[in-house]
Amino acid sequence: MFEKILIANRGEIACRIIRTARAMGIKTVAVHSDVDRNAQHVQLADEAVSLGGMTAQESYLQADKIIAACQQTGAEAVHPGYGFLSEQAAFATALAKQNITFIGPPPTAIAAMGDKIESKKLAKAAGVSTVPGHVGVIKTAGEAVKIANDIGYPVMIKASAGGGGKGMRVAHSAAEVESGYAMAMREAASSFGDDRVFIEKFITSPRHIEIQVLADRHGHCIHLNERECSIQRRNQKVIEEAPSPFLDASTRRAMGEEAIRLAMAVDYHSAGTVEFIVDAERNFYFLEMNTRLQVEHPVTELITGLDLVEEMIRIAAGELLRHQQKHIGINGWAIESRLYAEDPYRNFMPAIGRLSLYRPPAEQQHDDNSLTRNDTGVAEGDSISIYYDPMIAKLCSWAGDRDAAIDRMRMALDDFIMRGIGHNIPFLSAVMEHDRFCRGDITTAFIDEEYKDGFQGVTAAPDRQRDLGLIIAAAADADAVRQLPQNARSTSQPAAHPAARPAVQPAVQPENWVVQFVAEGNSQPAADDMLCAVQSDDAAAAVEVAVSPYPAAADTTSDRFSIEIDRAIDTPRLAARITDHQQQTERHYICQLHQDKDRWHIHYRGTDLLAYARPPHIAALAHHMKPVIAPDRSNMLLCPMPGNLVTVLVAAGDIVEAGQTLCIVEAMKMENALVAEKRCRVASIDAKEGDILSVDAVIMKFTDAET
Ligand code: ADP
Ligand code: ADP
Ligand code: MG
Repeated sequence: MFEKILIANRGEIACRIIRTARAMGIKTVAVHSDVDRNAQHVQLADEAVSLGGMTAQESYLQADKIIAACQQTGAEAVHPGYGFLSEQAAFATALAKQNITFIGPPPTAIAAMGDKIESKKLAKAAGVSTVPGHVGVIKTAGEAVKIANDIGYPVMIKASAGGGGKGMRVAHSAAEVESGYAMAMREAASSFGDDRVFIEKFITSPRHIEIQVLADRHGHCIHLNERECSIQRRNQKVIEEAPSPFLDASTRRAMGEEAIRLAMAVDYHSAGTVEFIVDAERNFYFLEMNTRLQVEHPVTELITGLDLVEEMIRIAAGELLRHQQKHIGINGWAIESRLYAEDPYRNFMPAIGRLSLYRPPAEQQHDDNSLTRNDTGVAEGDSISIYYDPMIAKLCSWAGDRDAAIDRMRMALDDFIMRGIGHNIPFLSAVMEHDRFCRGDITTAFIDEEYKDGFQGVTAAPDRQRDLGLIIAAAADADAVRQLPQNARSTSQPAAHPAARPAVQPAVQPENWVVQFVAEGNSQPAADDMLCAVQSDDAAAAVEVAVSPYPAAADTTSDRFSIEIDRAIDTPRLAARITDHQQQTERHYICQLHQDKDRWHIHYRGTDLLAYARPPHIAALAHHMKPVIAPDRSNMLLCPMPGNLVTVLVAAGDIVEAGQTLCIVEAMKMENALVAEKRCRVASIDAKEGDILSVDAVIMKFTDAET
């Protein structure tokens, strides 16, 4: 076994590999860019070597520097993680030349599977079912149309060198084939430097289901069952699970056998994934093979009990597979949610910033036997930069069955506290409560179909909104009580606090709070305002609340609840237990609550609501308050996404025409041209080239063209 290995990666996957290596008694070497010098993976490893640079190109993709780092530290093997150099055959070959072991497949297998036309040919020859289509380079638009007519519409035109969902076009007619062919070719040439494209049948509303394989250097290969990854956004996986709610035992066996056949055909060893697309009739077709550890591998680990990184290291060291196919079972159900730094309310725009609060739920086995696992590579205080992948963490749940795993995931998301940066937890929570997802009725089109106009926050059912209102009333009341002078509540002295109760005679007099939801949060309020009479008894943990509509109608009756809250002092986390006396039920909530005077912001399961909690005499006057008018920013160019201002093309005083490019912002490796909306004069330039801008940073201001 190796004594020391180097991890040529960063973030959660580097941390995850280091943990397994350590458990195996292997020393670890981290490499890092300048941006990452204090990153978690650097702190976790036994040694670290600086690669310098900021971008991936300048750091984690510098194969020569990584090989030099191995020589300098005496690392005998390299684990590449995923992304970066993991699928570059030339890197694996270069390592071999220096007698350093690549903890991954042979370079020949990487190369064979790296090209979609070649891998499809190989798969066909190995008896693996492939998507119907033409397996060869298409030379002209005319040929493309002829082939598409033969296959039958819709078809997909795909770049042979493609990856990451790029260089793909769907066409429904001959005309669309002609334009799609040209576009796919151009995109392929510019993204991959290789304009070869081919055509295959477009499978409508399919599922993405993939098979994990594991093979040793001695000709043994097994599969570890499937993962379903149909919840995708722009061909990017967001939620994965194992097993798939769709497969029956015979389809699973057939897919597993084909995946093994393909792996054997390229003399594969190490861990790998064979991706399939599966139609509504459970016909499955080979898509591609990823010759590396996959992001979503934890769900497979959770249902099989294997540590895939450990298996990869043992295989690389030449050991025999320790498991036979008959020993691999499916134990329970696992789900993974990818937490991204992005703003779900603004079309999932990438977000950057500092994690001012970062308190993930504890990784543990719970009393009901279910599990929470969180693979992460950041800590509170770290920054998420524009330089690398925006994934913050991979939150996983495991339980005996799918419903229980979903429930555990909901609770884990409730308990994930993160501030300072936009993130997709509300969206993930919304999917976990979505009917179709819960039924397992999902396809790769799920997000597009269910969130046609983007994500607008979940509108809570009226009963849930009422419970959230109760929580706010109880929190407001507890705050007011805390701020009262001692004994104020049971004396007849007027209270000092402005929001405090008028002089109270008996200690048990209820206090009234009006909770008014306003349409300023990301979710729409769906229930009426409420009047909460809160009766607290110093000795009891719970308060009694009578809830009635506000303003009160003539025949108003009230519903009665007991509520007990436990509010953290250092985070927005609040736990509540509500006893509903009418329905004789008890409900538990973990939500996040922020307060700014009498304005409360509550987040729960994808619902994000703003409400005021005020005593009735103040609530009655609230409509006299002057509304806050947002400043007019229509005469400014605001940065639409976090990014690097690479070029400014105009100067103060210039007159610009509608549609004229004003500047270029580079974000997540893409250049975005920002254009003028109308003819006007540039009044000032407020940022300079090279600046790293956050969302809504002012780049320039305008005035009327004629002034
Ligand atoms: P990449 O290398 O970019 O990952 P894939 O071939 O794996 O390319 O395809 C990415 C995604 O595109 C798949 O997960 C699937 O959602 C969709 N896709 C690819 N090929 C087809 C097809 N023939 N029909 C329908 N959807 C497809
Ligand atoms: P404000 O202080 O403006 O009332 P918050 O501080 O509650 O708002 O949150 C600011 C933004 O941060 C929200 O619009 C929301 O998008 C995001 N946010 C904060 N906390 C959470 C959370 N727990 N879940 C989801 N989004 C959150
Ligand atoms: Mg793929």
